[in-house]
Amino acid sequence: MILHIDMDAFFAAVEQRDNPALKNRPVIVSGNSKRSVVSTASYEARKFGIRSAMPVFMAKKKCGKLVIVPANIKKYRAASKKIMAILFHFSPLVEQVSIDEAYVDIKGCERLFGSPEEMARAIKRKIYTDLSLTSSIGIAPVKFLSKIASDMNKPDGLTIITKSNVKDFIFSLPIQKVPGVGKNTMKHMEKLKIKTLGDINKYTLPILTRKFGKMGQKLMELSKGIDLSKVETNNIRKSISSETTLPKDIFDFETVKDMILDRSQSVGKDLRKKNLVCKNVFIKLKFSDFSQITRSKKLADSICSSSAIFNEALALFKKIRLKKKIRLVGVGVTSLKDKNTPVQMQLIPDTNKQAKQWESVDSAIDSISEKFGDDIIKKASLNRG
Ligand SMILES: [Mg+2]
Repeated sequence: MILHIDMDAFFAAVEQRDNPALKNRPVIVSGNSKRSVVSTASYEARKFGIRSAMPVFMAKKKCGKLVIVPANIKKYRAASKKIMAILFHFSPLVEQVSIDEAYVDIKGCERLFGSPEEMARAIKRKIYTDLSLTSSIGIAPVKFLSKIASDMNKPDGLTIITKSNVKDFIFSLPIQKVPGVGKNTMKHMEKLKIKTLGDINKYTLPILTRKFGKMGQKLMELSKGIDLSKVETNNIRKSISSETTLPKDIFDFETVKDMILDRSQSVGKDLRKKNLVCKNVFIKLKFSDFSQITRSKKLADSICSSSAIFNEALALFKKIRLKKKIRLVGVGVTSLKDKNTPVQMQLIPDTNKQAKQWESVDSAIDSISEKFGDDIIKKASLNRG
């Protein structure tokens, strides 16, 4: 069984805990520039329709009594560290996925801590006793269901999907709750009358892959309860990359440039999600005759913004003299290391003003695309000029 733990309105909850005057009040934690967006909203603020990634001015319009608290990232990091240490006390197989979220593989821990449910209750209790913060936990036989489960009874939730009720759960799980199903995919789903994950089985694999590409196969697997992804304790991967095969072979600079931007955004997003920075950017091109080349550059400073990755990748591309049509474009990063400061919204102190601006744009984009799907954002940024 896999357990997914997610803190409830983490930043806001920490602030409410430390300042009794904020208890039971609509609070948001946010940066304090003009372009700031809501980083975390307390549950009281959510009642007014205020959500993460919403511009602060809009949040203010929704709630006149809104209290805006500047982010104190140091404090959240300290709390996060304690929470992760608690998890490691229960199992050595912990995968931290963000500042307030982690997967725990609990196989072999039963003898020490009892059933998965008992263990989850013990974790919640320990976090509450030590940090006065509530958390929500989902337990399921596979990773993706545990994450969906932790979100189901927030705040202070505990949701268990057992092996015997996986089938029923999937059958009635709204398709938009499945990770990776964004607004754009949803339009297709509606046309196909797919409302739940179980409805995926109305279609064959060839039809699904034709409509949704790789995602089609993934959805087919998930609809059968198959998710082979493991809890990865070794978080630092050696490289992150993303590539696209073009619908047809091309020679056109602008199109390739757009593809590079597209892939750079995807890589940057992945990098930031894992709280990593990179010191090496590479591009990969495959040509119409299936030959391929890669070009890479070692950077002076570590980066994680999509625009910085894009600039490096584009510079590499510009140096290549094209002789053949291109069929595949890839962008990747290596020399990865942990970023000391957790990246969430625009809270990162950075001496480089432009880089800072980009990081805030990136993090806003990350949280919006998380909610509404990648496509909305990609179009806007490709039009950026
Ligand atoms: Mg959370």
